Amino acid sequence: MRLDEFYRGDELQIPVSIELFPPKTRRGRDELFERVELMKRFDPKFFSMTYGAAGSTRDLTLELVSRLQNDVAVETMCHLTVVGQSRDETREILRQLQAMGVDKLIALRGDPPRGESEFVPHPEGFLHAIELVREATALGSFSIAVAGFPERHPDSTSREEDLHWLKAKVDAGACLIITQLFFDNRYYFELVESLRALGVEVPVVPGILPIVSVGQVRRFTALCKATIPGEIQDQLSKYVDDDEAATAYGIELATRQCEALIAGGAPGIHFYSLNRTQSVEQVLTNLGHFADPPRSRQR
Ligand SMILES: Cc1cc2nc3c(=O)[nH]c(=O)nc-3n(C[C@H](O)[C@H](O)[C@H](O)COP(=O)(O)OP(=O)(O)OC[C@H]3O[C@@H](n4cnc5c(N)ncnc54)[C@H](O)[C@@H]3O)c2cc1C
Repeated sequence: MRLDEFYRGDELQIPVSIELFPPKTRRGRDELFERVELMKRFDPKFFSMTYGAAGSTRDLTLELVSRLQNDVAVETMCHLTVVGQSRDETREILRQLQAMGVDKLIALRGDPPRGESEFVPHPEGFLHAIELVREATALGSFSIAVAGFPERHPDSTSREEDLHWLKAKVDAGACLIITQLFFDNRYYFELVESLRALGVEVPVVPGILPIVSVGQVRRFTALCKATIPGEIQDQLSKYVDDDEAATAYGIELATRQCEALIAGGAPGIHFYSLNRTQSVEQVLTNLGHFADPPRSRQR
């Protein structure tokens, strides 16, 4: 099934997808597969596996994607970036994914390596995600998602410029937009409205991070330049040394955020799970995801 077809809106349950990252150790990977077994209960439309900063997890990402898709037999979307590799290397990875039977891809530029602030293209590499969208589209077998930025991408000089390139990625063949994390839903709704005004009709799925630690959310938001609203900052400052309390607050916050997004017409939720089951499970429980019969979707 194509990625956008998961969001047709003809099911009672809100479609969810779960983002994972490749653990560095064998033990971590064993645990990940145990958690995936638990997360199957969430009935996600697909899992996705990130591609480490500057391509640092390239082989591991491909291995884990193949295991998820072929051995665990769950729909899996591979993250692929163009940073740190030549055009030929990127094309080779696309061919490897095809050979593995992986047909879902999120095409990304990628962030600079840890410690560096500016994206520097590989001398023989692609400059932007759109070039990867074009390559993958030309191969014919991929269903392609791209990243969208509710608060605009930090490298772009204006909202209009960012929207222009996001629309261009869709025009080049992407059928789904998944957003960067955000904590103020107004940014998401403004993004969707602006895209619709430009004639972009693909589903725009909000990316939601249930907070599990104050230090971590501060690091993430510093990296992607997402705003933490004042009232959330105030709450978080109480939990700086208490991950358990931060996690409980993160569940409450993500639940409220998802409820408002779904009520406002968001077609699904993409969870930045950080390979954890508890927060996503609790948010989904709060949303009535496991209720029988499932709560009607408010569209
Ligand atoms: C859902 C999601 C998943 C992610 N997964 C990963 C991951 O697994 N690994 C990882 O390293 N990073 C990941 N990222 C982060 C992403 O790689 C960074 O945010 C990166 O800085 C931008 O990627 P992009 O695909 O949006 O780039 P692009 O679409 O290339 O955009 C980057 C900037 O260039 C501008 N631009 C785009 N095209 C052009 C053009 N043709 N000419 C001029 N300007 C242009 C855009 O407006 C923007 O300012 C993810 C982000 C999201 C939202």
